[in-house]
Amino acid sequence: MSNFYSDNPDLAWYVERGVDWAPLVELTEFLHRSPDGFKDARSAVEAYRDVLNLVGELAGDVVAPRAARIDREGVRLVDGEGQVSAPFAEIFEQLGALELHGLALPRELGGQNCPLTVFFLASELMARADLSVMTHFSFHGPMAMAMLAYSWAEGSTTFDPATATITRTRFADAIEEIRRGAAWGAMDITEPDAGSDMAALRTTGTLGEDGQWRLDGQKIFITSGHGKYHFVIARTERAGDPEDPFAGLGGLSMFLARAYEDGEGGRRRFVTIDRLEEKLGHHGSPTASLVFEGTPAELVGQRGEGFKLMLTLMNGARVGVGFEGVGVCEAALRLARAYAAERRSMGKTIDRHEMIADYLDEMETDLLGLRALGVQCAVEVELAQKGGIVLATGLVTDPEEKRRREADVKRHSAHARRLTPLFKYLASEKAVQMARTAIQIHGGVGYTKEYGAEKLLRDALVLPIYEGTSQIQSLMVMKDTLTGIMKEPKRFATRVAQARWHAATARDPLERRVARIQGLARSAEQHLLTRTVADKGRQVVGEPVAEWAKHLKGRWDPKRDFAYAMLHAERLTQLLADEAVAELLLGQARRDPERRVILERYLERAEPRARHLYERITTTGQRLLESLAGDREAERRVG
Ligand SMILES: Cc1cc2nc3c(=O)[nH]c(=O)nc-3n(C[C@H](O)[C@H](O)[C@H](O)COP(=O)(O)OP(=O)(O)OC[C@H]3O[C@@H](n4cnc5c(N)ncnc54)[C@H](O)[C@@H]3O)c2cc1C
Repeated sequence: MSNFYSDNPDLAWYVERGVDWAPLVELTEFLHRSPDGFKDARSAVEAYRDVLNLVGELAGDVVAPRAARIDREGVRLVDGEGQVSAPFAEIFEQLGALELHGLALPRELGGQNCPLTVFFLASELMARADLSVMTHFSFHGPMAMAMLAYSWAEGSTTFDPATATITRTRFADAIEEIRRGAAWGAMDITEPDAGSDMAALRTTGTLGEDGQWRLDGQKIFITSGHGKYHFVIARTERAGDPEDPFAGLGGLSMFLARAYEDGEGGRRRFVTIDRLEEKLGHHGSPTASLVFEGTPAELVGQRGEGFKLMLTLMNGARVGVGFEGVGVCEAALRLARAYAAERRSMGKTIDRHEMIADYLDEMETDLLGLRALGVQCAVEVELAQKGGIVLATGLVTDPEEKRRREADVKRHSAHARRLTPLFKYLASEKAVQMARTAIQIHGGVGYTKEYGAEKLLRDALVLPIYEGTSQIQSLMVMKDTLTGIMKEPKRFATRVAQARWHAATARDPLERRVARIQGLARSAEQHLLTRTVADKGRQVVGEPVAEWAKHLKGRWDPKRDFAYAMLHAERLTQLLADEAVAELLLGQARRDPERRVILERYLERAEPRARHLYERITTTGQRLLESLAGDREAERRVG
């Protein structure tokens, strides 16, 4: 018997002490009051612990032992339908029977009303057992939650304030089917010529004279795309300004399409599965190429809102992918540690050799930091999302309380926006790095299929690609950082001064060290901003002075004006992720002195990294940028 929850003291620390459950329980229960609801946070946490134990057991006893077979047997396209392997199907039968797809769904919709944070912690457990199982699991409950969230947002969910329950919601039938495990959802964005660049999407949504929307086009790489419910992003309006690379985003709308209908005459398909991808890893998860030809669909939200709605869905999904990464890191560390404790070389087990001991120590330190970032990110996302829904229900009438809640939502939304791309980036990259180190620690057998280390790496490599690549996360971080400073320069100046002051005067030496990382991060940001403004400034030289303000305030061309910042976006993301982890671990150490040792370990690794990143951001890149600018100029002349 193995239980992936009870064998993990760091994860249990969050459940028992690390997470402030009270506001999460308050919001979750506030929205869905019921006689069998929890009266206080303590009784709620007992139930959450039970759920995590159940998932931990399932992951350890049912999923992990089947992982190698799932990897070997993969998926097949049979008579136009996606078919998963027998062990994969068995796992999903059990997940359905245990009603785990309803984990975070409201009680009145048949769910268990757990916070999303509990779902995310459960995700880590499942991903540690098998990434492809976790991925398919995440296209169940979270898709039903997305249906509910969209319905709230467009006003098609009705809520009775007297009983604090949902009385009607637009996608109730689909939600119920998913909750039972009889169906699942998919998120259809990518097309052959449009991946990261969503403005280039070509699939169309057309409104017929009969009032029915129909979809035409091809979507590729659709995870769990052999399923029934598809959120499809399609073009309904023509792109505006041809000079603006983002104009195409405004013409996108969101649809819900049913891929098939099962009736007495059998299955009738509205979406064709062209093929299932043959991939490097992640073999249990079907990745489908889909053809839409006059596929009937329902518009979700308003026309032209597609990009905004898809981002809402993707932001939650990015946190989910982050936890998939944490699970892979945990698996890699355990595999490597167990092997290193057994394998002998030159008179001792290899974990006693300094370099291997250092690898293992770094893996563990990184994992502890990563989990701190993930849990905080999950909590912020949930507080922002549920706080917003509570305000939308009209349940809060007292003006003072309303103001307080609005301020809370604003604060948590800002934190969630800051932490989400950092977490998605760091977790994905660390998963790949740790899986690769696990192979190295295994030596020759790491390169064979015997121990499962190579499977971990093959699986992990998808994490920095789907749900927005690592580069796209970095661009988001960079954009938010620069626009944040430009919008509030005084606040930035205060943060610079605070970091300097704390680095010099804080009584706690660990706090001084965290402040030094903050100082390096602010200096790097300052450098990037100064360079960006200076580059833009150079363009106005030669223009009449009266035109300068127009150029500086006018539209910025992302291809040209942010070149230096974009070049260093990933390095800044790494630095800001280390800063965020250090801050969170400092907060933990203040509340619980036992956590000080984790902060010390993390700082020992993060401080030299931060200095190195700062150095690279401020001293490299000029040669490459000049060469790119030269190419652009040549292209312009030819064009
Ligand atoms: C297993 C798997 C499952 C997937 N599941 C889904 C799914 O369920 N739904 C769905 O819609 N899609 C899915 N995808 C698609 C995935 O989201 C895309 O592959 C991803 O967004 C990258 O798009 P692309 O492949 O077109 O690469 P491109 O966008 O062509 O990018 C290629 C490379 O260029 C980089 N790049 C692109 N633009 C920039 C830029 N401006 N600056 C710097 N670097 C840049 C990228 O980071 C990447 O390294 C899945 C992919 C895989 C492999």
